[in-house]
Amino acid sequence: MGKTGNIETLIGAHTSTAGGLYRALLEGRQIGATTIQFFTSNQKQWKGRVITDEIIADWKKNLEETGIKQVMSHDSYLINLGSPTEEMLVKSRHAFQEEIDRCVALDVTYLNFHPGAALDGGLEQCLDRIVESLLLIRPSIDKGNTRLLLETTAGQGSSVGHRFEHLNYIIDRVKDQIPIGVCIDTCHIFVAGYDIRTKEAWETTLKEFDRIIGLSHLYAFHINDSVKDLGSRVDRHKPLGEGTIGWECFKFLMQDKRTKNLPKYLETPDGPPLWEKEIKQLREFAI
Ligand SMILES: [Zn+2]
Ligand SMILES: [Zn+2]
Repeated sequence: MGKTGNIETLIGAHTSTAGGLYRALLEGRQIGATTIQFFTSNQKQWKGRVITDEIIADWKKNLEETGIKQVMSHDSYLINLGSPTEEMLVKSRHAFQEEIDRCVALDVTYLNFHPGAALDGGLEQCLDRIVESLLLIRPSIDKGNTRLLLETTAGQGSSVGHRFEHLNYIIDRVKDQIPIGVCIDTCHIFVAGYDIRTKEAWETTLKEFDRIIGLSHLYAFHINDSVKDLGSRVDRHKPLGEGTIGWECFKFLMQDKRTKNLPKYLETPDGPPLWEKEIKQLREFAI
């Protein structure tokens, strides 16, 4: 911990819900996290978990006991809000609405989601379908305090969201109607071509983000090092400091006034023992 005592520094990881949703909070506390990300349902299944009163009660009790704040949910990997196929689009919109309903029931702060993939369709049509999908779920999002966060993607295959312009296109068209923002994944933007390895590189990238999207729309970070190189567009996470990005990037995020107070979630491989070490190291950077 820095000498100013950054106990409130919001740093955590994507923890496990095995044994019950509230277990993600307990795992968070175990690794020294002050925030967590989790799945509200099995991320590889269409059929969503039903949130019972008992689940809500357990969640609230453990939330209070652990003191964990600004919880983020990550949506299912199956959802594609920009799908060119009608059947898949309908299925995705339905599943996404259920994601929101679960987040609202648990009063989750952020729902992070991958914008979508164009598949064999065009980029702009894909972005338009995502906008339409988001506007359709307004009645659900209106019921709670959850903010939707577009995750910056690595740009693998036909997935959109690897250019700031894509995210701005969506945000511009929905921001007056639904709570929206961006979660930057450090591994993803790096392989998408935005350099963040040094303070100078971060300055350039943040300036670019501000020019195209606006820093007021930046709410959170996924903190990962990368196996692959700048611009490779291949998404493979590595433990912090062991990949192609390196520690300087993460030190900057913990110290710069524009980024230090935003919540940060580790998605590095190897799980809790590694996260505990990484959280400790990141906290030491915080000033
Ligand atoms: Zn991520
Ligand atoms: Zn990733």
